[in-house]
Amino acid sequence: MNTLLTELKAIFKDDMRTDAATKEEYSHDASIYELVPEAVISPKNTRDVSRLIAFVTAHKHSYPSLALTARSAGTCMSGASIGSSLVVDMTRHFNTIHTASSTLLHTQPGVYIRDIDPELAKHNAMLGCIPASRALNTIGGMVGNNSAGEQSLRYGNTDKSVRELSVVLRDAQEYIFAPINKKQLDVKMKQSNFEGEIYRRVYQLIEANYDEIKQARPRAHKNSMGYNLWAVWDRDTGIFDLTQLLTGSQGTLGIITDIKMAAVPKAKHSGLLLVYLTNVKHLGEIIPLVTSHHPATFEGFDDITFNLGIKYFTMFRKQLGTKEWLKQQTMLLGSVAKFRGHLPNIIMMVEFEGDTYDEVNSKIVALDNDLKNHRIKVRTEIEGNEELSKPFWEIRRASLALLRNQIHGKYAAAFMDDMAVEPRFVPEFFPQVRKIVRKYKLAATIAGHFGDGNFHIIPLMTITDPAEQLKIEPAMRELIPIVLKYGGTMAGEHNDGMIRGPWLRTQFGDTMYELFKDTKEIFDPEYIFNPHKKTDASWDYSMDHIRSNRSRNFYK
Ligand SMILES: Cc1cc2nc3c(=O)[nH]c(=O)nc-3n(C[C@H](O)[C@H](O)[C@H](O)COP(=O)(O)OP(=O)(O)OC[C@H]3O[C@@H](n4cnc5c(N)ncnc54)[C@H](O)[C@@H]3O)c2cc1C
Repeated sequence: MNTLLTELKAIFKDDMRTDAATKEEYSHDASIYELVPEAVISPKNTRDVSRLIAFVTAHKHSYPSLALTARSAGTCMSGASIGSSLVVDMTRHFNTIHTASSTLLHTQPGVYIRDIDPELAKHNAMLGCIPASRALNTIGGMVGNNSAGEQSLRYGNTDKSVRELSVVLRDAQEYIFAPINKKQLDVKMKQSNFEGEIYRRVYQLIEANYDEIKQARPRAHKNSMGYNLWAVWDRDTGIFDLTQLLTGSQGTLGIITDIKMAAVPKAKHSGLLLVYLTNVKHLGEIIPLVTSHHPATFEGFDDITFNLGIKYFTMFRKQLGTKEWLKQQTMLLGSVAKFRGHLPNIIMMVEFEGDTYDEVNSKIVALDNDLKNHRIKVRTEIEGNEELSKPFWEIRRASLALLRNQIHGKYAAAFMDDMAVEPRFVPEFFPQVRKIVRKYKLAATIAGHFGDGNFHIIPLMTITDPAEQLKIEPAMRELIPIVLKYGGTMAGEHNDGMIRGPWLRTQFGDTMYELFKDTKEIFDPEYIFNPHKKTDASWDYSMDHIRSNRSRNFYK
């Protein structure tokens, strides 16, 4: 391997790092895992990506463990942006926004969302799939994971927004993928190159298993498990779209070098109704009532998260700037004072939008009245203007980072972190999940995209303790049948990686699992892209690589 690294160093020079500090930094993402890379390489352009892929393909036979793991900001919670061979860092050079308009963003994949946001805001636009990690993550990672966020209630996961992807495949060539009609597909399938082979084989695979594939899509608002085969080919519309397969593929099919993504309009006015539950057991009953009012976004978090948010609000100082931070802190303290020391168990944030302030207000008041008449007594508070709601949004969006950074000696262990079911099932589903949390004595916190029936239940664990680790597998084994009973998914947005990859067969069944595997092998028969993730993951390998240290502070 040393000879190979020397050869690579001659090509990539300062853009290749093998020092201990870099390896340590890149050996973690936001998952419970740790894989130490041999080297971290930052390609300057598509030609570099091609050279890297050609190099790995040429030497794979002699060095079977040689592989490439694409990595953007490394905030993945499923362990898919770490690798034990070569990590390809996309943030150093692939960071140009080409164009931004009110309807479309054209960008390189390594651009941070915090840099994209202001560009789109100039056009009164935003991304509809933006995750809570928006202060930390990149657009390439969003496509890689098929991420989602608070706006996904209306706009879906990232797959719904992607319009075109440039991807370097295993033959080291860059191809542009976008939706095409059957006539264009027929032309593609006649090509004698690797691209032609991909179109031919994926089309045949889907055609031969059409009904099975269509039915396999989880019946939840959101899903980021498996490969999106069900969204590639539609006999009714005649549209064939490989961007759907590449989105959410976690760098296991190729490396994305360019992205076109739809932008959506920013609302003229918005306002928030805060709903406070005294007991988490009421969550299941209140969620469907709130969703029946069709809010624009519907998020929430628990008292542990809220307490941390209040205590560590200083964390946001750098991100917000001192003036804005002071303003928000004052508003937050004003809100907290109203609780007189009795924080609610769950805080729900229900946001409505409209063209006028009055329109927003009437929607809020309608829900407020319905809640007041409900048999479960809840407290509510109208934060009618956007300013007042800002600190709550900061806490919700940073909820996971607060747990990761501020609870000493415990690790926010993401393994039951992303289940999603249709909201109508929440009243039945949620108590069953809580039963398992109690059974395994998991000190879990709750946050999530409540409107989508998508829950982030994050146990705080001493992750290095074998006794704690032993709880993970049986808890997963008990959770999956509950999720499946309601047609849901174990991952609404955090994808498979090392944590859920080993459970793909259980979630989707043997036939679909084999079809996912076939899909992987059409693109990557030698497994040069991101091994041990998704269909290539194994529970033993994952559990052998549980992280040894505590946490990475994402807000440093
Ligand atoms: C505090 C916190 C909050 C979070 N909240 C949310 C949330 O609300 N919603 C949500 O969906 N997720 C959330 N996440 C998870 C994560 O932030 C998102 O999935 C995010 O979009 C990942 O972006 P990234 O730039 O960090 O990607 P990375 O972690 O670097 O990569 C993610 C995946 O994409 C692949 N990839 C990256 N770049 C490329 C490329 N150029 N070509 C091919 N593959 C590539 C990687 O191999 C990996 O499999 C959260 C994480 C944290 C730490």
